[in-house]
This record gives sequence, structure tokens and C-alpha cells, in this order.
Amino acid sequence: MQFHLNGFEPGDPEIFHPEDRYAAPAKGLPLPQEVDVLIVGCGPAGLTLAAQLSAFPDIRTCIVDQRSGPLLRGQADGIACRTMEMFNAFGFAERVLKESYWVNETSFWKPDDAKRENIVRSGRIDDTEDGLSEFPHVILNQARVQDFFLDVMRKSPTRLEPHYSRRLIDLETDPAASDYPVTARLERLDPSHEGEIEIIRARYVVGCDGARSTVRKSIGRALHGDSANHAWGVMDVLAVTSFPDIRLKALIQSAGEGSIVLIPREGGYMVRIYVEMDKLNENERVASRNITVDKLIAAVQRILHPHTFEVKEVAWWSVYEIGQRLTDRFDDVAEDAVGQRLPHVFIAGDACHTHSPKAGQGMNVSMQDGFNLGWKLAAVLQGRSRPELLHSYSAERQTIAKELIDFDREWSTMLSAPLKSPNDPDGVEPAEVQKYFVRSGRYTAGTATRYTPSVLTGQSTHQHLAQGLTIGARFHSAPVIRLADAKPTQLGHAARADGRWRIYAFAGADDRAQPSSRLRALCDFLADSPASPVTRHTPAGQDIDSVIDVRAVFQQAHRTLAVETMPAFLLPRKGRYGLCDYEKMYCPDLKNGHDIFDMRGIDREQGCMVVVRPDQYIAHVLPLDAHAELAAFFGGFMLPQR
Ligand SMILES: Cc1cc2nc3c(=O)[nH]c(=O)nc-3n(C[C@H](O)[C@H](O)[C@H](O)COP(=O)(O)OP(=O)(O)OC[C@H]3O[C@@H](n4cnc5c(N)ncnc54)[C@H](O)[C@@H]3O)c2cc1C
Repeated sequence: MQFHLNGFEPGDPEIFHPEDRYAAPAKGLPLPQEVDVLIVGCGPAGLTLAAQLSAFPDIRTCIVDQRSGPLLRGQADGIACRTMEMFNAFGFAERVLKESYWVNETSFWKPDDAKRENIVRSGRIDDTEDGLSEFPHVILNQARVQDFFLDVMRKSPTRLEPHYSRRLIDLETDPAASDYPVTARLERLDPSHEGEIEIIRARYVVGCDGARSTVRKSIGRALHGDSANHAWGVMDVLAVTSFPDIRLKALIQSAGEGSIVLIPREGGYMVRIYVEMDKLNENERVASRNITVDKLIAAVQRILHPHTFEVKEVAWWSVYEIGQRLTDRFDDVAEDAVGQRLPHVFIAGDACHTHSPKAGQGMNVSMQDGFNLGWKLAAVLQGRSRPELLHSYSAERQTIAKELIDFDREWSTMLSAPLKSPNDPDGVEPAEVQKYFVRSGRYTAGTATRYTPSVLTGQSTHQHLAQGLTIGARFHSAPVIRLADAKPTQLGHAARADGRWRIYAFAGADDRAQPSSRLRALCDFLADSPASPVTRHTPAGQDIDSVIDVRAVFQQAHRTLAVETMPAFLLPRKGRYGLCDYEKMYCPDLKNGHDIFDMRGIDREQGCMVVVRPDQYIAHVLPLDAHAELAAFFGGFMLPQR
């Protein structure tokens, strides 16, 4: 798709008239007095969480923001492969694929050895390692990403809309209160209501209110870390240039003028450029430096020398200070009180970790926080899990944020370091920068996240049964053919952002689910045994797959298997008419040479079960006949419903 040719316009580029491109915010209705979850902040973290919770009609969610309406331009734009996988679960990955810029390759530029004031291309590589994900790394304005989440919320069973022009003033928590332990005070900012105070009581409050979070302060937490902040200049521009790699992501290091990261943007014409400005002194705010967009443009022109760079329009620009900082915990429970009290207030996204924009982590990690917390809150509020499950949010996400911040610090330091030259023999070799970029590809793609063993993440005892599906890592999808209708699809796309768990049962070599086979025995156990986690944890009257969705994958070509001989458990009757769900069984895509058993290292002889969490992370790998272990795993955090 090409757009923004005659100037930048925010909103949906498929709509012809710019004034129709974004929905006006809903008129300022009063806030509800009591809710299950109050989310403060409509950034990527808050909207991911809100979109997840909006799927549950019995959960009352309220999301507020001090802005007067949706974001229209600027802020982050990098969307990691892992985030695209999550977008697919929310149902809008295809829209993002269509509208975004795809980062397929990255080029590297360094000073010309013969003429140091010029830059020359030093390398060009694949941006992402082959086969890392079925989705590419893409670039799209944060505002559009937020639009897609707002759209999911609007179309959901709860028709959730944010309340804009509401500023959180403070929070009070009464842990002893059994109904609504948290009371929030908010101030209205909209015309004719300015200054009005509203009180809202909530079972849970989630602070997704950015780096200067009021929620964080109200629970007495602080960001710790790099106090020597960096000032960053960033601009989205329409420009005419002789720089040849203007439509490739490029890391450009000049001899004496600094470095830039150049990111082509959606629409085919716009480009984003990050320019690292000076380090700020301790406690110094970036505003004091009086950096203007003209200064940014001049810096870019010097770095790109001898290429010309003439800016025609600045769509957005900003200068901001950022340090790699982190809070100790992401909830309101002190470390030594974890066994004694339950969390009621959480923080997510920039409220608890901040990153430099160089590794493109901020928005991506923030959304993963929201996704991690969303299904857990839903499970607890719906009485499917004990509230102790909520301790796992801080435990899991704080550890991941720390790892990413350490990586971000190393990467930013490398990009900011002076280059090796006759005058600076200790400087960094440009080739080293390129090597580090390749080595750290899995971090930037968001696929390096791995949760450690816990009540939600099993031990690696049976990992050898599925060597390419690592326990604790995200489920790495692969192509398959759906048995009943021969549709080529991705197995991982069975996952929707609906709070359900999934068990993928990979059949052993001769297992066609015939009587006496291990897959048949598993289906019989799951369907009929009183110990079955599926029947135990599914409320009476609900569809059998509404809590745990079981799918089978066979080794045979799809035409050699007969649907009519399959266990009834894999052809469940659902809904008010008892219609049959035919989408539970798959085979390898042998015609196209994609055998999921080989691609993901599944033990062909034995097969196995792969248990996947609602946020697409692998919780366990078990043998097909480990019925008791499977039941014990779910019993560790789910409550019986019958
Ligand atoms: C000006 C700016 C430029 C940025 N540029 C880049 C970039 O170029 N590249 C990059 O990778 N990252 C960039 N970032 C960082 C990136 O946008 C964040 O990492 C990401 O948005 C984090 O998401 P979040 O949901 O945690 O917080 P945010 O996106 O910051 O959202 C927080 C929301 O909370 C609202 N809020 C705050 N306080 C209150 C309150 N008291 N009451 C009610 N609402 C409140 C805010 O209005 C905001 O909408 C930028 C951030 C900013 C602020």
C-alpha cells in the first residue's frame, strides 16, 4: 500500500477523506462507580489488556486516559515478529501486514576509510533469521496499532470504549476489603467538566500510565537504573534524498558526527530517523537543551554526507530522555509478603520498565505485559483460578524486563561508542556492530522470552519429545493441513486471545486414533475420566473446549485418514444446536514439504502433548499417556468447576 504521497494524514489510509479516517472519541459519559478492573492509560500496555478483558462479557472493565482522544501520530513504531503472532491471536495481524513496512533487510554504513567525512555501505543482511516466525518484523505507527486494539474492544461482547480526559490523581488500597479493595480518585479534564472529581472502586487496578506513572508512585514503587539519561531526537519526515538505502532499515555510523538509525515507514514515502543527542547531566531535563527539529535535520544531513537530504514535511518529531530503568516488582505486594497477601494493583509497560528506542523494545514488551496479565485476571475474576495466580505476573514479567533492559543497555552502548580509527584505537569495529545485531536477533524479534519453571511452567523432564517447542518459550507455529476441509493453515493460529488453554496432541508414528492407540486413550481420558482436567475445569453447560481446547496432529497425509473414525472428543458438539466443530485435527503439509514433526523436533515414535497458555507460551511437554501429570499440572492453578 502506498500513501502519504502528498503529506502525512493520521488514521486509516484506506479511507479517502482524511476527516473520516479516525473515529471521534465517545462523548464523556460518567465513570462507573464500581468495576472489576480499572486500567489507567490507553497506550499499548493498557489497550492490550483492555482488548483481552473486553472478550469476557461478565467482567466489568473501565479504561481511562488523560488524553482527550486516541493517539494520532508519533511514539514507537517497531513491531517484533512475536508481537505479530500476538496480533494474530487478536485477529488483526493481516491488517497490520497490509498497512505496515516490512523490515526484511538491514544495511550498515560506516565512515569511508579513504575519505572519513563520507559514509559508505559496509554490509547488508537479513533482518530476521529464516524460520524464526511465520510473521515478518514490521513497522507501523503506534497510533495505528492502538486503533486496531480500540477496534477489537469496540466489536467485543462488552463494546468497551475508553473514558478520555480523565486524570488519575491517586489510589488507596484496603487489602482487608473483600469486594473492592482499591479506590481511585480521578479528575475530569474535558470542557465544561474540568476539575470535577470522580471516585471509582475496583477489585484490581492496573497502571499502564507510562514512564511517569501515578499508579507506580501510589504503590510506593520507583524506577531504578540508568540515571545518566540520553536525549534522543526522533522525527518522521517526507524527504527527498540521494541516500540510496532510504527504503531499508539502516544503521549509519559517521566518523565524527554521531550515528543514526533510519527506519522506513508505512506508505512507501515516509521515513523515521533516530538521532542520538548528548548525554544529559544528572537530573537535567531534555527541555533545557532547547533542541529544535532544525537541529535534528542538520545533524542527519551531516551524518549522511556526501548524500543530500532535503526534508519536505515533518509529520512528527520529538526529543525525549530515556534511560534503561526498572522497578523491583510489578505489583503492590512487598517481596517478603508474597505468601501473606494478594496483589490488587499492578503496573505494566513503561510504568515499570523503560528502554532506549534503539532495540525497539518499549511498545513490544509493554504489550506482552498486558497480554500476560489479561488472561490471569480473567481466570481469577471468573473463578477459574485461585487469586494466588496473580503473583506470577510480577514474577514472570519483571525477570523478562530485566533481561531485555540488560540487552538494550549493551546494544545502545555499542551503537553510541566511538568507532575505531587511527585517533581512537580502542573504538568499536563497524563489523562488530553488525555481528552483535545478528547475534541479538532473537531478542529484537521478541522470541527470546523464556519463562522459568513455576506453577505455570513445567519442568523439562520430557522436553526431548518436542525439541523445537521449548517449555517456557512461545509456541513456534508451523504449517499444517486441517484434516476435515484440507485447508493449509498454521497450527499456532488456533490460538485466539480468548483466555483459553490449548493442548496440541501430536500422535505417534502409527497412531490414527484407532481403538487402543495412545491418542485414543488420551481422548477417552479427557472426555470421560473424573480426573480429566478438561471436564473438571469446564463449568457445566459450557462448550467442552471453552477452558481447555484440545487439538490433535497426525503424522499421516490428510487424505489417508478418515474423519468418520475419529474420537467424538475431537469432533465436539457445541453451541445451542449442538453443531459439530470440525477444526480440531491436523496433518503435516507434506505436499509442500512442511512436516511439522520434523520442523519442531517431535518424537515420531512416541508423539507428545504440548500444553500452551492463553498468551501462547508453552507451559509443558508431556508424553501422550501422562494423564495424571496433565491433571496435576492444571490442578496446580485451576479450580474445579464441577
Ligand atoms: C513522546 C514519546 C516518544 C516516544 N518515541 C518512541 C520512539 O520513537 N520509539 C520507541 O520505540 N519508543 C518510543 N516511545 C516509547 C514508547 O512509546 C513506549 O515504550 C510505549 O508507548 C509504552 O507503552 P505504555 O502503554 O506502557 O505507555 P504509554 O504509551 O506511555 O501510555 C501511557 C498512557 O497513560 C496515560 N496517562 C499517563 N498518566 C496518566 C494519569 N495520571 N491519568 C490518566 N492517564 C494517564 C498517557 O496519556 C498515555 O496515553 C516514546 C514515548 C514517548 C512518551
